Amino acid sequence: MRTGVVVKAAGGFYYVRSETGGTCACVLRGRLRRQGRPVLVGDAVEYTATGAQSGVIETVLPRRSKLVRPPVANVDRAVLVFAVREPHPDPALIDRLLIQAGAAGVSPMLCLNKADLGTEKTAGLISIYRAAGYPVLVTSAKTGAGLDALQEILRAGVSVFAGPSGTGKSSLLNALEPGLALKTQAVSAKIGRGRHTTRHAELLPLTGGGLVVDTPGFSSLVLPPLERAELASFFPEFLADVPDCRFAGCLHAKEPGCAVKRAVKGGKISRLRYESYLKFLDEITEQEKRKYD
Ligand code: GDP
Ligand code: ZN
Repeated sequence: MRTGVVVKAAGGFYYVRSETGGTCACVLRGRLRRQGRPVLVGDAVEYTATGAQSGVIETVLPRRSKLVRPPVANVDRAVLVFAVREPHPDPALIDRLLIQAGAAGVSPMLCLNKADLGTEKTAGLISIYRAAGYPVLVTSAKTGAGLDALQEILRAGVSVFAGPSGTGKSSLLNALEPGLALKTQAVSAKIGRGRHTTRHAELLPLTGGGLVVDTPGFSSLVLPPLERAELASFFPEFLADVPDCRFAGCLHAKEPGCAVKRAVKGGKISRLRYESYLKFLDEITEQEKRKYD
């Protein structure tokens, strides 16, 4: 039995890429079809070859993560692309995407692109997110700055790009690998035709190693369904202080003796991040209210 990753699904076939880089058009073993549990792009599978380029999927291995939009399993990292300016980065949106990635089980990193336009104004943001524990890369698709580092990060596993439009996601892909952005745009253009057509994402191999999802992730800005108590776990820089809060169930909002608030006052935790936290806490409370109304 061989193992590989489903890189594309179309017309009842699952295209499985083996570790050596060859691709095999596979069908599902009847037992798997009858189970009715969908096989996703990104799933790691065991398959038997029935020909040079054909095979049968026997087993779907356990998933490490699952992205809903686009539907892809086992995405290892989300590259959140923002621009140092044009458009100006919105920290609240960065925080929202960090939570969406975290909730999907995908490790997020920040890529601040358009460094050629000047990084003076983003130095503060860069240090906030580095201090929070996220990798931050500063790049320019235009000059090539930072692209070696980005390629190095993408080499292992499966990556999805996300972020507002106009920040340079396709330019970055194209700078890393000419022609790749074209493939991703061809797919995005197809979505535009009918919002309700089901679309299957595809994983594209990078010459330097690694796979990239052909569609940007997280098109919805609605927070994933979270419990209020879970929210702090998406703010890694809070975690060292949480055990020192006076109350065990502290939500770090209005409670007295809150160690997180103390750390914000002392400048150890960024006020900007804490404000995002409070805003999201309100949103989750509203979501819960609507649920029980
Ligand atoms: P996407 O919507 O995130 O895919 O963004 P695009 O790749 O389409 O880029 C949006 C605009 O920003 C285009 O006009 C690009 O030429 C420009 N752009 C992309 N990367 C850079 C960069 O590193 N520096 C500068 N100055 N412009 C860039
Ligand atoms: Zn607290």
